[in-house]
Amino acid sequence: MHPMRSIAVLGGGGFLGSHFVRGLLQQTNLEVEVVDTCFTKLESAPLPRAARLTRACVTQQGLIERVVEEHETIVSMTAICTPANYNKEPLAVIDASYTDLVPLVQRCSEKKRYLIHLSTCEVYGKAESEALNETSSPLLLGPIPAERWSYACAKQLLERVIWAHMTHHGLEATIIRPFNVIGPQMDYLPGFDGEGTPRVLANFMHALLCGEALPLVDGGAQRRAFLYVDDFTEALLGLLRCPEARGEIINLGNPENDISIAELAAQMIAAYSKHQGPKASTPELVSADSFYGAGYDDVKRRVPDIHKASALLQWRPSTSLEAMLPAIIDDYVSRYAGKARGAAT
Ligand code: UDP
Repeated sequence: MHPMRSIAVLGGGGFLGSHFVRGLLQQTNLEVEVVDTCFTKLESAPLPRAARLTRACVTQQGLIERVVEEHETIVSMTAICTPANYNKEPLAVIDASYTDLVPLVQRCSEKKRYLIHLSTCEVYGKAESEALNETSSPLLLGPIPAERWSYACAKQLLERVIWAHMTHHGLEATIIRPFNVIGPQMDYLPGFDGEGTPRVLANFMHALLCGEALPLVDGGAQRRAFLYVDDFTEALLGLLRCPEARGEIINLGNPENDISIAELAAQMIAAYSKHQGPKASTPELVSADSFYGAGYDDVKRRVPDIHKASALLQWRPSTSLEAMLPAIIDDYVSRYAGKARGAAT
């Protein structure tokens, strides 16, 4: 293994990427190139030191070849990863998570570069065992008309391509499966800086800021284990110092924050009231069909087994939901409260 000098982060302007890039600039002396189509999140506060920002899509002619040529390590984070889009634009979802990235995997394999690929816990699909394990849990996707599974299927197939390159062609790679990472700067808010339905945290924040009801899809009994973005970033940075992680698939999640969506709504209402004074928002039951349209197929429960990450990276996520909510609410209030007030008048 050569000493690492430079790293490229594809999709580094997004939610996970912008937190990770800040960590890279703060905690390493690597040369950093960030490739994305938008840098609003990265540019929202001064960067700790300079990074090369390349405004481009990974499909741009010659981009992958150039980036792989110039960097020893490539982190791939580009995707369309909001469940509301999986059944609305499945072809774009499949291209972004599979078709557009096959050339990257091939190139890293040919040029012997280290690839860190961000996959997803969605690959486990409907497997709802106690704790989902990287190498022993089955990956159970729904039928083809349930188009929600277009994302998981594309992500799984790319994992299989990476695995085949590792096993048969000497590629050095690590596949990361993040579980419901949340934090400041997540997603957009519909009507303010995007359209459609973001993931649950942003949707609930939107409702709280606008004094509307928090939509509980099918009652909110479904459960997720939420990982704070700082814990996630710490693990990803640890990966760069861990040669043993090469060749591995690794879950990153926080099993201790396993709660129902109804409980999440209650905790967010309480935390928001503490921050902003008592507010009138309450949860409201909505059906999945009316909320997401046909082809949405929810996952009831998703809890990670994180023994591998803990052993390899000496990592343990430490942020409880209660501890992370104030910073998240603070971020959304500072960015959107004025706009929400403006929209209401
Ligand atoms: N959900 C909800 N209200 C919303 C958005 C999502 O009840 O406004 C539910 C959704 O049906 C799912 C869970 O919250 O069961 C998490 O959804 P999210 O889109 O954040 O991501 P997922 O974990 O499903 O990939």
